[in-house]
Order: sequence, then structure tokens, then C-alpha cells
Amino acid sequence: MKVLVADDSIVSRHLLDVTLRKWGYDVVGASNGTEAWGILAGPEAPSLAILDWMMPGMTGPEICRRMRESRMEQYTYVILLTARNMKEDIVEGMESGADDYLTKPFEQAELQVRLRAGKRIVELHAELLRAREAIQHEASRDSLTGVYNRNTILAMLQRELARGSRELRPLGVVMADLDRFKAVNDTYGHLAGDEVLREAARRMQEVMRSYDAIGRYGGEEFLILLPGCDDASAYEQAERMRHRLCEKPVIIGSVPYDMSGSFGVTSVVPSPTTSSEQLIRKADQAMYLAKSRGRNRTEAAQATSELGLDSGAAAFLTSTIA
Ligand code: GH3
Ligand code: MG
Ligand code: MG
Repeated sequence: MKVLVADDSIVSRHLLDVTLRKWGYDVVGASNGTEAWGILAGPEAPSLAILDWMMPGMTGPEICRRMRESRMEQYTYVILLTARNMKEDIVEGMESGADDYLTKPFEQAELQVRLRAGKRIVELHAELLRAREAIQHEASRDSLTGVYNRNTILAMLQRELARGSRELRPLGVVMADLDRFKAVNDTYGHLAGDEVLREAARRMQEVMRSYDAIGRYGGEEFLILLPGCDDASAYEQAERMRHRLCEKPVIIGSVPYDMSGSFGVTSVVPSPTTSSEQLIRKADQAMYLAKSRGRNRTEAAQATSELGLDSGAAAFLTSTIA
């Protein structure tokens, strides 16, 4: 574990350096408060710090205060090390946000156990963060396919609309629905159907960019968000996904099954009043158009509300694109 040792006295720093290394810690040194703050606020900051109280630049308590105010995600356990040993000093030091306090000259054994306590706290905190992340991940995913669940992809759509409206950037929205999927269940059973669904999600993800998002909107329906994609590029991306879906058969048991999907595409340069429901409806309508035109194809719609078009004009546009 990495420990920051900040002390303006080279002798004291050296002593700590040697001692801590002996105990198996990686030591990062700082000779003043400014340098120490730079290290703690920087990337890959140590999560344990031994700070001298009096240092040029910033004092130990000042660093503590600033660190606690900035509410960094990673917790840094701080031991203040100082020649001051009055009760008021201890109170002031701890109130600044330090976790522990040691007076100079320190007993090696005492520092060792206090560091160990700090290490335990840091490890517990990291474990807590990991657990929270795992829970968040779990709660946002569809348990069958591993893509985002309906609530999450809808929340992401709202976020992308807000972002797109701020940045005047288009957002592509795609609705994908597997073709004749009921027949898979009916012919091969529900478990095989589940496996086909998983494979469909896997294949579509393979051809997606990292900033795109896919969620399971319904049973065998997926909603895909393509930030930055206008009509043409959203259509292209949907086509890439469609091609990947039907590229090769899925093997169910030992039987090859030709999977395919129908895709509906729309895009919008969002305004603050753009409605997510309307966008989804557009994509959905385009997807049903793809179904009615024979399935395993992509159809585009126009976001009529944004263009001020009525549905007749939109249908005309859709038919000219098809
Ligand atoms: P279309 O080409 O018109 O979309 O036909 P389809 O058969 O895909 O459409 P339909 O909506 O009639 O059937 C969808 C089927 O998807 C029905 C339902 O049993 C199945 N389904 C929905 N969710 C799941 C699931 O989680 N697992 C499995 N195995 N099947 C599911
Ligand atoms: Mg279907
Ligand atoms: Mg469906």
C-alpha cells in the first residue's frame, strides 16, 4: 500500500521513509504542503498519508480540511504527525479532518499499529465502494442479457436528450425487435429462447461504440441510444447491428437457427422540450414499418415534432428513405 509522507524536515522524512519501507509500504515523499496536496489531489493518490503539521505552503490541517471539503471518491486516511502535543492541538487536528494523531518523537511500534488501523479502514472503504458499484451495476442491468434494463435505458435517454440540447448535438434512437421470436420458444423451448436473446444482445453490442448504449426495452425488444448520430449515421449503425444479428446462425442444441431483427431508426437534435416518449414512438413506428415490409430490415422515421412536420409528411419522408 502506498503512503504519502509529507514533512519539510529531510531527517524526519528519511527516517519515516526507511521505517515504512521496512514494514512493506510504498513511500511517496513530499517536502512541503503544496507538493503534498498536489499528490493527494492527483491521479493514483496514496490512500494513506502521514502529514507533518507545520510545513511551508500548506499545513497538515489545511490539507486535511481541503481534502475533506473536496469529497474525493477515494478515502485518504490521514495521520497528523507533529511536535505539538497540547489537548487543543489534538482537537484542532482531528477537527480539520485527520483520522489520527501522533506526536514527535514517535514510537515505532505505535506508528506501526496506527498505520495498520489506517490500512484496515482504507481497505474496508475500497471494499465498500466495490460492493456499491456491484449493486449499482446489478440494479441497472437486465439479468438475462446483461444489457441495461428498461428503467436505466429510459433514464439514459432523458440524460442524453438534456445533453444533446445543451450541446446541440443529434441523438440517434433505435428500436430493435427480434423477428418471429415466439416461434423459437414454441419450437425449441423457452430456455433456448433465452439463449437466443442473450446471443442477440451479445452480437449487437459487438458492433457498438463505447459511448452508445443498449437496453432491453421489452421481451425481445431493445432500445439503442446513439449520441452524436444524425439520421444517416444512426441508420448506418442500425444496419451494422442488423447485419451482425443475421450474419451466422445461432446453434440451438445442434440445430442452426437463422436469427434476424427489424430495426426502426430516428434521430433528433434535442431541444429542452423534446419528448422521449415521442422519440420512442417514432422509432417504434419505424420498426413496425420494417416488420410490415418483410422483417430483417431497417426503416427510418423523422422526428416530426422537431421538424414541424405532420404525420403525412413524415410518412412521405419515411417512404422516400425506404
Ligand atoms: P415479430 O417478428 O412480429 O416480432 O414476431 P415475434 O414472434 O417476435 O413477436 P411476438 O411479440 O408475437 O412474440 C414475442 C415473444 O417473445 C413472445 C414471448 O414469449 C417471447 N419472450 C419475451 N420475453 C422473453 C424472454 O425473456 N425469454 C424468452 N425465451 N422469450 C421471451
Ligand atoms: Mg419480435
Ligand atoms: Mg416484440
